Amino acid sequence: MRIPMKKILLLLTLFVSQAMIAQKTRPPFFKAPEGMQLLSTDLHIHTVFSDGSVWPDIRVQEALREGLDLIALTEHLEYQPHKKDLPHPNRNRSYEVASAHLGSNDLLQLINGSEITRNMAPGHINAVFVQDANKLLHKDSLTGIEEANKQGAFVFWNHPHWPAQRADGIARLDPFHEDLIAKKLLHGIEVVNELTYSEEAFQLALDNNLTILGTSDIHGLTDWLFEIPEGGHRPMTFVLSKDSSEAELKKALFKGATVVWYKDMILGKPENINAVVRHNLSAASKGYMPNTSIAQVALTNHSALPMQLEYLGPLSFQKQSRFITVPPYETLMFEIRTKTQVEALTLHFKIQNAWLGPKQNPILPIKVFL
Ligand SMILES: [Zn+2]
Ligand SMILES: [Zn+2]
Repeated sequence: MRIPMKKILLLLTLFVSQAMIAQKTRPPFFKAPEGMQLLSTDLHIHTVFSDGSVWPDIRVQEALREGLDLIALTEHLEYQPHKKDLPHPNRNRSYEVASAHLGSNDLLQLINGSEITRNMAPGHINAVFVQDANKLLHKDSLTGIEEANKQGAFVFWNHPHWPAQRADGIARLDPFHEDLIAKKLLHGIEVVNELTYSEEAFQLALDNNLTILGTSDIHGLTDWLFEIPEGGHRPMTFVLSKDSSEAELKKALFKGATVVWYKDMILGKPENINAVVRHNLSAASKGYMPNTSIAQVALTNHSALPMQLEYLGPLSFQKQSRFITVPPYETLMFEIRTKTQVEALTLHFKIQNAWLGPKQNPILPIKVFL
């Protein structure tokens, strides 16, 4: 069926303007603590300039549509399967093409990066905030990692649980990694990569004071892999930064101030997870039901994460068990039996889908004045 050109143009205009409105009006994924920003990042992305399937401009468009604040394109330095068709000698090219496409757009920041691609050990290592990716290309991986550090890069270990390099899927340090950590040449570790999660990598991060990261490592389309039209999202690393400048974000990354959002869970170091949880769940009293000692409380979730709560106190609820899920950006009303009418109530909730260690959930006390 032929559609008149006018109609196509009208539809196109509608589509474009709706996409722009979505970008501007999207609520923040998580409310940041006062005076801070929670910046959404993806620091592990591929294009045709290594083994990805798309041109760099698509990565910029995806990031804008998905509400990211900062991304790094991190092409494999050594693995160049499209070399015959794209014989590019310049390892910064992907970044340059994406930068030219982005132009001056204050919705998204772009930084230069590379994936130093080796067998285990050390496996694959990402360097972001690099000045010149070409200089990281060396015969041995250590020299490349040292050069990245010389350039002031933030360096992290990719998918330490990847079955191709760890047949049991268990992340563990080799002496090479221990040496990198001791020399402060390695600063972070992926606990989430693409569609995988490693509790062992999480523990390694806590034990060795490495920054916790979650990345998409996308090669195809994010829409398809992470089922974004169906309500999914790519893994994101939120950086708790003083402001949105590149310099502050980099400082916060080195400090380890991150929270990873993966599927329906968040994870990170205790201080960061506690701060995010505290600022994204609030309660307000709606008073007592007339002539009863049953209090009505409204619980509000300010984030994109469904909050799966378990009430830990001795009281009981009028309409549900002690398990309560507050959907994203919603307020949920519940009634709680306080036995006598009281002026204030402290409710302790365990957040079952937030992790501050491999088997550990945060517990949040919420005070309600009735
Ligand atoms: Zn890799
Ligand atoms: Zn990769």
